[in-house]
Amino acid sequence: MITSNHHATKPAGPSPVQFRYNSRSFSPNRQDIMSNSTPSIREASCADDYDPNSMPVAKAREFIARFLTPVTAIERLHIRAALGRVLAEDVISPLDVPAHDNSAMDGYALRFADLNAGGETRLKVAGTAFAGVPFKGSAQAGESVRIMTGAVMPAGLDTIIMQEHVKAHGDQITVGGGHKAGQHLRFAGEDLKTGHVALKRGVPLRPAEIGLIASLGIAEVSVYRRLRVAFFSTGDELRSIGSRLEEGQIYDSNRYTIHGMLTRLGCEVVDMGVVRDDPQLIEAAFKTAAANADVVITSGGVSVGEADFVKAMLDRLGEVVFWKIAMKPGRPLAYGRIGGAHFFGLPGNPVSVMVTFYQFVRDALLKLSGRDPLPALPTFRVPCMTPLKKAPGRTEFQRGVLSQDASGHWSVAVTGEQGSGILRSMCEANCFIILQTDQGNVSAGALVEVQVMDGVV
Ligand code: AMP
Ligand code: MG
Repeated sequence: MITSNHHATKPAGPSPVQFRYNSRSFSPNRQDIMSNSTPSIREASCADDYDPNSMPVAKAREFIARFLTPVTAIERLHIRAALGRVLAEDVISPLDVPAHDNSAMDGYALRFADLNAGGETRLKVAGTAFAGVPFKGSAQAGESVRIMTGAVMPAGLDTIIMQEHVKAHGDQITVGGGHKAGQHLRFAGEDLKTGHVALKRGVPLRPAEIGLIASLGIAEVSVYRRLRVAFFSTGDELRSIGSRLEEGQIYDSNRYTIHGMLTRLGCEVVDMGVVRDDPQLIEAAFKTAAANADVVITSGGVSVGEADFVKAMLDRLGEVVFWKIAMKPGRPLAYGRIGGAHFFGLPGNPVSVMVTFYQFVRDALLKLSGRDPLPALPTFRVPCMTPLKKAPGRTEFQRGVLSQDASGHWSVAVTGEQGSGILRSMCEANCFIILQTDQGNVSAGALVEVQVMDGVV
């Protein structure tokens, strides 16, 4: 059974998986992400100069990027509902923010020219300006106005003195020296100017952007529709949570990590459950998935031995390339199109699934979702406190723990066992230690490149 946005609890059983589409129909026209002008994956993979049995990570990413046409369908949402979505048109500022010159401090507004250059100046206080309640009068020469943070600057005055720097006595103040003309003022339009682009199409709407749109008085924005991603696990050994394990069986965890990773990326998820290693069932699952989603993701079944019948089937259903990526973990990876949908065939091992998702699928989904420009994930170098084993010839994504010592210096240590089936290594880690292709063993204390997981995973 297909469930949208909640997990399928149906255990893998002997009966064929039944695909009943029980959620809203898949209305957006997928032509908006599959333009006719996109090149053929098959032709591109033949023309390309690469060894599919040792595909460099960067090359695979570049290859995939060529076939990704972002969604164009848009919807109008209230800004509260737009959190996490991608802006589909520039937001042009209809006003100046702030609308008036105003005070950045609680204090007194005055004319800088009225201050004695050398010493103290005594000024009359002509009134008060509150935030939202401007001073209505006019301050004459030698007069000041008591002013609160955010209050409109009274006409003719040009400088603010913080209240801490003023002696007040009755309706008079005494101001010392050492002030600068124009200090502590916020100028009209210094945040946003009328008619200027306040936010560009393609940016993700984070809390800051939502607040900025609100500061313009705008209630609704145009965002791209969410990507719809269908996924299933393959493997006779897999059982869904809720059923008992027989000997040799394991619980399906990949579907839950994939569900989580997709949800974090703001995708609409279609969880299709576990599909047994049966060509007919797998073919039916691929067809249903491709007919109902923009992107299809599977885990397992693309490693040597299993790939052959899947390969033949996908050759019939679409255009798919199978690679052995020069990386660890996560060697086998399939990418292509089935019907109108993009397809990512991830490895079966739980850590490989996550690493290949972050290296290949994440960026692809962001691009398809309309993100522009695509954010480069920052990496930086820190000393590695543990020696690392590394064979040259492939990129490794070891799981690491970044920490700070008592004197404030950051370093990284590898989590224990690095096996691609040890999902605990992802739970213990707060970063990936990225070891580039040519790199060999790393001795303790050497600098390594790390990528923080927070905000990524
Ligand atoms: P495969 O790529 O299908 O050969 O699977 C490689 C390894 O990953 C095997 O040990 C599988 O049992 C395991 N595996 C495959 N799919 C899953 C899954 N959905 N959850 C947990 N482990 C899996
Ligand atoms: Mg399998």
